[in-house]
Amino acid sequence: MNTFLVFLEQREGVVKKSSIDTWNRAQELAALHPGAAVSALLVGPASTRQLDGCPGGNGVIYHANEEAFRLYNPEHYTRLVVETMKRVAATTLFFADTALSRDLAPRLSVRLKASLLTGCAVDDAWGENGGGCCQRPVYSGAAIASFAPCRPLKIYTCTPRASRISSPITSGARASVVVLEPSSSTSEELFPLVRRMAMHEGVRDVAEARIIVAGGRGMGRAGFGLLEALARLLGGAVGASRPVVDEGWRPHAEQIGQTGKTVAPALYLACAISGAPQHLAAIGSAGIVVAINCDPHAPIFDVADYALVGDVHLLLPKLIEEFREFLKKR
Ligand SMILES: Cc1cc2nc3c(=O)[nH]c(=O)nc-3n(C[C@H](O)[C@H](O)[C@H](O)COP(=O)(O)OP(=O)(O)OC[C@H]3O[C@@H](n4cnc5c(N)ncnc54)[C@H](O)[C@@H]3O)c2cc1C
Repeated sequence: MNTFLVFLEQREGVVKKSSIDTWNRAQELAALHPGAAVSALLVGPASTRQLDGCPGGNGVIYHANEEAFRLYNPEHYTRLVVETMKRVAATTLFFADTALSRDLAPRLSVRLKASLLTGCAVDDAWGENGGGCCQRPVYSGAAIASFAPCRPLKIYTCTPRASRISSPITSGARASVVVLEPSSSTSEELFPLVRRMAMHEGVRDVAEARIIVAGGRGMGRAGFGLLEALARLLGGAVGASRPVVDEGWRPHAEQIGQTGKTVAPALYLACAISGAPQHLAAIGSAGIVVAINCDPHAPIFDVADYALVGDVHLLLPKLIEEFREFLKKR
C-alpha cells in the first residue's frame, strides 16, 4: 500500500503555494491509487487555514509548530521528517522543488536509503510500470526523460504546475491537524544559528507568484522601473533572465531559468527576452505567456500565446496605462 507524506514548507508563518500544490497533487494521486493514504508534515509555526478546502483535503496534517522550527536547520528538520516517516509508515515523501528541499531531500535520501528523484513532474502515470516513475526535462529542456525509483522508499521534489488566475476551486473539506509534541532536544548545540541574513525583504518570490513580469537584456537597467510599475499594478513579481542578473541589474533571487528558478505562474509576461532554451526550460508550466520583442523571429514567440512585436520602451508605458484604466473600471 502507498502511504504518502507531503512536506509543507512555511516561510514567515505562511505555507508556500508550491507546497499546497504538492499536497493537492498527492491527494489526486491517492484518489487514483485505491488504498493510498496521504499525510502531511508542516514544519514551523504557521496557520493551517490555507489548507482548508484543498481538493480531497481529508488527510492528517502533523504540525511541528515549535518556535525552534521557524527557521531551517538541516539536522533538526532531517530528524523530524525521519521520525514522522516512521510514525505514518510512509513509503513516499513529496516535497515542492524549492531551495530548502534541494538541501533537505538529499540528506533524507541518504539517511533513509531512499531513491531520490528531483525536479519531477509527478503526473497521472506515476503509479504505472511498477510505480513511482516520473518525468523531468533534461538537456536544458530539449528532451524529457523518465526515471524510475529503485528502492522501496521514494522521495520526490515536484516542480510546480500552472496556477489559475481565478481563485482555486475548493471542496470545503478539512484536513485534521495533529500538533506534534515538542521535542526534548534540538540540534542547536550541533548547528547553532550564527546569523540570519534576510535578502531582498518584502520582494515577492517569483517561484510563488501567480503573475510574473519578466525582463531580459533588451530592457536595459533603467527599463526595469517599468516592469516594477507593471508588477505592482498587477500584484505580480518581477523576474529576470540570466544576463540581467549577471549584469547586476537584478538579484539572483529573481532569475528564471536553468540556473535560476522554475516558475508556474498563471500569467508570464516576457519583455525583451529572446527565449533561449535555458530560459524556456523553466517556464514550461506557465499558464498564459505574453511576449514583447522587437524581433519578430525571437524564439520566445514560439511558446507565446500572445505576441507583441515592437519596442518595449514604447509598448510597456501604453500597456501600463491600459491596465490602469481597465483596473479603475472594475
Ligand atoms: C549553462 C547555462 C545556463 C543558463 N541558465 C540561464 C538561466 O537560468 N536563465 C536565463 O535566462 N538564461 C540562462 N542562460 C543563458 C541563455 O543561454 C541566454 O543567453 C539568455 O537567456 C539570454 O537572455 P536574454 O533573452 O535576456 O538576452 P538576449 O539573448 O540578448 O536577448 C535580448 C532580447 O531582447 C530583444 N530586444 C532588445 N531590445 C529590445 C527592445 N527595445 N524592445 C523589445 N525587444 C528588445 C532582442 O530582440 C532579443 O530577443 C544559461 C546559459 C547556459 C550556457
